[in-house]
Amino acid sequence: MFADIIIDIQHEKLDKIFQYRIPGRLEGKLEPGMEVLVPFGNGNRQIKGYVTGLSETCDYDLSKVKDVADISEKGVEIETKLIALAAWMKENYGGTMLQSLKTVLPIRQKENAKIRKRLRLLLDKETGERQLHYYLEKNQKARARLMAALLDDRELEYELVTKKLNITVPVIRALEEQRVLSVETEQVYRNPVKQADAEARRITYTQEQRMVIERFQRDYETGIRQTYLIHGITGSGKTEVYMEMIRTVVDMGKQAIVLVPEIALTYQTVMRFYRRFGDRVSIMNSRLSAGERYDQMMRAKDGKVDVMIGPRSALFTPFPDLGLIVIDEEHEPTYKSEQTPRYHARETAVRRAQTEGAGVVLGSATPSMEAMYRARKGEYVLFEMKSRSGMQQLADVYTVDLREELKSGNRSILSRKLTELMRDRLEKKEQIMLFLNRRGYSGFLSCRECGHVIKCPHCNVSLSVHRDGKMRCHYCGYTRPKAGECPECRSRHIGEFRAGTQQIEDIVKETFPEARVLRMDMDTTRQKDAHEKILSAFANEEADILVGTQMIVKGHDFPNVTLVGVLAADMSLYTDDYRSGERTFQLLTQAAGRAGRGERKGEAVIQTYSPDHYAVVTAAAQDYEAFYEEEICYRELMGYPPVENLLAVFVSCEDEELLEKGCHYLKEYILRVKGKSGADVIGPASPGIDKIKDVYRRVIYVKAADYGALVVIKDRVEQYIEINSGFNKMRIQFDFNPL
Ligand code: ADP
Ligand code: ZN
Ligand code: ZN
Repeated sequence: MFADIIIDIQHEKLDKIFQYRIPGRLEGKLEPGMEVLVPFGNGNRQIKGYVTGLSETCDYDLSKVKDVADISEKGVEIETKLIALAAWMKENYGGTMLQSLKTVLPIRQKENAKIRKRLRLLLDKETGERQLHYYLEKNQKARARLMAALLDDRELEYELVTKKLNITVPVIRALEEQRVLSVETEQVYRNPVKQADAEARRITYTQEQRMVIERFQRDYETGIRQTYLIHGITGSGKTEVYMEMIRTVVDMGKQAIVLVPEIALTYQTVMRFYRRFGDRVSIMNSRLSAGERYDQMMRAKDGKVDVMIGPRSALFTPFPDLGLIVIDEEHEPTYKSEQTPRYHARETAVRRAQTEGAGVVLGSATPSMEAMYRARKGEYVLFEMKSRSGMQQLADVYTVDLREELKSGNRSILSRKLTELMRDRLEKKEQIMLFLNRRGYSGFLSCRECGHVIKCPHCNVSLSVHRDGKMRCHYCGYTRPKAGECPECRSRHIGEFRAGTQQIEDIVKETFPEARVLRMDMDTTRQKDAHEKILSAFANEEADILVGTQMIVKGHDFPNVTLVGVLAADMSLYTDDYRSGERTFQLLTQAAGRAGRGERKGEAVIQTYSPDHYAVVTAAAQDYEAFYEEEICYRELMGYPPVENLLAVFVSCEDEELLEKGCHYLKEYILRVKGKSGADVIGPASPGIDKIKDVYRRVIYVKAADYGALVVIKDRVEQYIEINSGFNKMRIQFDFNPL
């Protein structure tokens, strides 16, 4: 037997794995992650290395392969655990061990120390409050917001203020000149807030919150480690519950990781954690440089931090005694990596927690089908939180049938109901968000008369219209000519569904010439920070209406928004994806949740051609259970995840003919090796876009009840393509249960 060993795990060039022979006395004792001593270099100096894998064959000249000297006597270090996790990820998600290691291990990179700036309030509390009053009177929203934040914490990190609080540099400069605040620089990175009044504010938990917290504490203190799913509507107080759970764990000398989608790392969220855990909190985000990221990781490893908050990659924080992993908004697709290894943070968190004796808490207002399915099966403990603590009631939701609008002669994208409510809000000087539920690339054909959408006869997904005038199914490759009339009602009023945000902006401006309109989509957010600028302008009430794609649905709270319009709920319903119902339900529920965050109750209008579709009906009723029941039946019937498992094998190649041939052989091979696993092999089909940058792409799907059977197939395919040089020119990637 041979062991794959990496020598330097903290180096940027983590690109080489060495093979060593395992001597007889160590046979059966080595495992991935273990620290070993190996002879290295010409002098055979003994150095430390880590086992990353074991194999029966050796790729090098056998006479030159050296023996592993010994297993290092040291205790199990965090690196060991993370390398073992990387081995698990490689096994379960595919790709190479190096790709997994790079995902999991903090890697050092040379980097100059950045200079940090912070803002300090120069006024005393009383003067500050007078000033705040003045800004509010003058309707200077940005200044007021900054002043309110400074009255809470006299010192704030500059970046936090500009990026998270959406305060522009000129505003800061103006207040600096007026001697309201000062900007100070500091060489070392510390916390963005000074920790004077951490944990000052105490709240009384609601009964629902108490139940969850007590159950968790009871389990935890008796050594029971589980995965908990909190299904709680927005505002039900989940974040308060997480913080109390973390407190329990931290008080026992352990550490916690909190995963949140990047877009939800808002000023408010960040500050809540700082106030509660003070200096012992660290925040990770994508704006940190590689060097800063590494520093954060090292602080965590050295025990200087108890709580790490960040997006997906924060999952790999090298805490020495990890006690808890919290995943907020667990249904968000950003928790799935888009690069090999295409891991899902939820599953990987559960795995990491298991091996390190930690607990996992998942939270969402609209749990993913996966999480709820597992909870229902008893794998996770389920908590429900149904009442809002201190906040407003849920918005009233109206569904508008766009077919009826057409029948009564309204051809505009704005229904009469929505137009009427918009007029009302504009008069009351309240704000409106219009949301175009649009995700993808290719449109689908729908009948304007009866709402019929043309679908694949084999897959129950909509067919996409392609430029060549044909309609195609991305799951099985089924193709037919573009329909000229509706197969249901013979109407010729059939069209591609492709309204853009730009068009909508124009129509809104036409209908309400005096309204101030902002637009946020791919086009308007191309520039750096454009995203934040638009949101901050809207937060400052520099516009009455914000038109945008789903990027406007998440993140920021706008207390003055009391009306949300979803212009075409169908857009995500008939994308060619078995998850489209789930995604639509989540987006509509979130969109409705945007209305009425402040003191006034909100309203939401959902415009749709499919008012009877269960995803629309249940979202309008804000009834998760009803949605889940319908959706799980569909998944069961079709054998889709989470009921069964799906492996996507992506194949790409510059030579289309070669690709076709390769896919053919691959499929034949998979059919041969799938054995008695009962796996279905589907495709090869186009993965949505079948050529990117002159590289042609195909995908083969393998569907099986047993995840393990898919792992075996993946392993066999990896071996197959390695020994057949015909695949050298092809790139093959695996994606388990793709999103
Ligand atoms: P979620 O994470 O479920 O959306 P949060 O924890 O953010 O909910 O709570 C929503 C708001 O209600 C926050 O401002 C929070 O401080 C407040 N809140 C939560 N629980 C309580 C409570 N028991 N008493 C008073 N306010 C609460
Ligand atoms: Zn029709
Ligand atoms: Zn099909």
